[in-house]
Amino acid sequence: MGKKLYIKTYGCQMNEYDSKMTLEVMQSSGDIQEVFTPEEADIILLNTCSIREKAEEKVYSELGRLNKLKKQNPHLKIGVGGCVATQEGDNIYKRAPFVDLIYGPQTLQRVPKLLEENNKIKAVDVSFPIEEKFDLLPLPTADGPTAFVSIMEGCSKYCSFCVVPYTRGDEVSRHPQQIFDEIARLSEQGVSEITFVGQNVNAYEYPHNGRLLRLSDLIEVAGSVDGIERIRYTTSHPLDMTDDLIECYKYVPELVSHLHLPVQSGSNEILTKMKRNYTRETYLEIIAKLHKARPGIKISSDFIVGFPQETHKQFLETLDLVNEVQFDASYSFIYSARPGTPAAKIEDNISMNEKKERLYELQTLLDGFQRKYSQNLEGTVQRCLVTGLSKKDNTRMQGRTECNRVVNFDFQKIEILGTLLDIKINKALAHSLQGHIFAKEHSSLT
Ligand code: SF4
Repeated sequence: MGKKLYIKTYGCQMNEYDSKMTLEVMQSSGDIQEVFTPEEADIILLNTCSIREKAEEKVYSELGRLNKLKKQNPHLKIGVGGCVATQEGDNIYKRAPFVDLIYGPQTLQRVPKLLEENNKIKAVDVSFPIEEKFDLLPLPTADGPTAFVSIMEGCSKYCSFCVVPYTRGDEVSRHPQQIFDEIARLSEQGVSEITFVGQNVNAYEYPHNGRLLRLSDLIEVAGSVDGIERIRYTTSHPLDMTDDLIECYKYVPELVSHLHLPVQSGSNEILTKMKRNYTRETYLEIIAKLHKARPGIKISSDFIVGFPQETHKQFLETLDLVNEVQFDASYSFIYSARPGTPAAKIEDNISMNEKKERLYELQTLLDGFQRKYSQNLEGTVQRCLVTGLSKKDNTRMQGRTECNRVVNFDFQKIEILGTLLDIKINKALAHSLQGHIFAKEHSSLT
């Protein structure tokens, strides 16, 4: 009889992609059925993320809960993967000896073998054989109209606050043929929107037929694949926003008018301390070029407030930048020291109260722009990709605008899943939009 596998995913889209690939690797190695609660499972894998504060503690708490299941079922296998696994290594066995295997983001393809070996030894594999990972991953199976396509792994930027280069290794780009094969297969399976993913996705480069292929080349090829109607990519670094990539916004209509481009701070002094290697001015130049290439493009971003020694004046420079760029829906966090990073050694002289106040001020400003953009959509017609049934009301359907806003609309016909439809936006709510099919008034859609 087959085994039941439960995977819990923490963190970013890369981890979501890795969990999907882990499932596919497991399924290609034997009779494995995915389940959605740990209680049902024979194998539980935690795909962890170490980007936020207390990440390790959260994983140990979860393991504490899973230990109760292990006591009830000694045949249950528990594995820890992802970035916390790389950071902690076999320390995990010291604090949670009931864990059966530890694997890193680059060795997920070895999970079936590690599980097999686990009958004899406690397995730990958090090495960085990155080409092997890309070479050994099976072609994915689509599970809806949208899909991630991993094109590179790791990061060589070494921002002073970030653990990713230590947990995922340096940047390595995937062979373009593997990427093209994956896109072709996904489109044959009905995928109409792909998102290229990588820790530093726009750093992609691969020598091919005498030249260096970049993300711009992948976008151009993807745009020409039958059935691919939308292309996104995440996450980008401003340093790698090269002119060839910006030019894509002029001539690849499938590339959406929305870009997530983390800036982190509006202060040049703080950007230097963060080792971001660009200035506020160069960031603004990139934004200006993007607007020129694709008028109306929406930019979202990530921000860190309360970086060690950030003065109030430097924080105000971040607010000023937000006012200047007028970012769309963005992410903002209070700085938290990650063990082993250079920033963790800088004396943190800002009180938690002050940090919270700064975060509140920044988020209020960001929310205002996000709300304004949503309200501006009321009464307009938006091209939306139909992604499924509405989460809250399954008599309605759900789509996404180019700027990735959820739109719920009154219609239910499974055949429209994965298609692009014109939806007239009736109302902007706090986290979604409501609308109706505009084409219905003019076509035979019933
Ligand atoms: S660019 Fe900086 S923040 Fe982003 S993954 Fe690399 S080191 Fe981390």
